[in-house]
Amino acid sequence: MNKIPFNKSPVVGIEIDYIREAIDSKYLAGDGVFSRKCEATLENMTGTKKALLMPSCTAGLEICAMLVNIQPGDEVILPSFTFVSTANAFVLRGAKVIFVDVEADTMNISPSAIKAAITPRTKAIVVVHYAGVSCKMDEIMGIAATHNLFVIEDAAQAIGNSYKGKALGTIGHLGVFSFHETKNITSGGEGGALLINDETFIERAEIIREKGTNRKLFLRGNVDKYTWVDVGSSFLPSELQAAYLLAQLENKDKILQRRLELWKTYFEKLSILEKSSLVTLPIVPSYSSNNAHIFYLKCKDIEERTALISYLFERGVMAVFHYIPLHTSKCGLELGEFIGEDINTSIESQRLVRLPLFYELTNEEVSYVCENIIKFYDEIKNGRI
Ligand SMILES: *Cc1c(COP(=O)(O)O)cnc(C)c1O
Repeated sequence: MNKIPFNKSPVVGIEIDYIREAIDSKYLAGDGVFSRKCEATLENMTGTKKALLMPSCTAGLEICAMLVNIQPGDEVILPSFTFVSTANAFVLRGAKVIFVDVEADTMNISPSAIKAAITPRTKAIVVVHYAGVSCKMDEIMGIAATHNLFVIEDAAQAIGNSYKGKALGTIGHLGVFSFHETKNITSGGEGGALLINDETFIERAEIIREKGTNRKLFLRGNVDKYTWVDVGSSFLPSELQAAYLLAQLENKDKILQRRLELWKTYFEKLSILEKSSLVTLPIVPSYSSNNAHIFYLKCKDIEERTALISYLFERGVMAVFHYIPLHTSKCGLELGEFIGEDINTSIESQRLVRLPLFYELTNEEVSYVCENIIKFYDEIKNGRI
């Protein structure tokens, strides 16, 4: 068996045709034909009021922090178990990040922990749909409404998924997708999208994204010249990225179907270990759909996980752990604070290991990974590890 990497960028085949078409059009800056087609596709797919392509999900989170007008001293509540960008975007605008616990079964932010962390300085809640699985959005939107807070969905991993039938990324005031090469769908390695669900943000988002100018209104003929009207930056990907993305969006069902097959195969083959209480397998609650973004299992503890990762590595399989909780990191300690009790975040994140899962992964490769995990637990049982 050849080495099995953790990830390979998905390629459906027609990307190169669209990229050539973009090059031949002699228009490669942002907001061209391909960008507009991608945005329309995202709007139809999710039902959001406005989708804007971004150079990354990180950039999307940064524009969210500007749109909800985060000021120094504001507090933003988010899970500690997440990628750094979820926190950085708000810290960059002067916020103090308030980390709260996740629930053990989904690794998603706990609504009761959010509630307990709210102060008069709280401005926003950022939820992360881990592994694409939905957070408990009814509870969270209810808490936000009671306290007049913004909700931003870090739906980086959640494209195509829904909560009680409503697309993730469209439930909060704002939502963001990632099209990084490790995600289900990519725009050529880097990219993202901002979903604007509260339409009062649309005009300002278009201005901030165009370096603080009203160029978009000018292009639409709404004003006769364009000028500097607000703070801003450059939040546009090029047409080459949009061309790659359009090819993937047009084939999203094919990609999703294959990922789901692989995810279910892992689940079925490894359920024997769960029945013997050796590992915990992921749970997808009935309120969430499954976009098969990550397949993980949880070992007994960090020692067992480290041993499993190196056992697989020696057999050519790249399995990897995930986030080191942000509240334990150097910057997290300086710029944030964990409020409430860390019941699950540290312990559960130390048990979690992600298995290779990508569009081109073969059934034989999945079988090989599973056989070796089962062998690992046999060797533990026989006292050889
Ligand atoms: C991947 C990811 C990001 C960052 O996405 P980029 O497109 O690489 O900026 C942010 N948050 C979460 C939860 C992610 O998984």
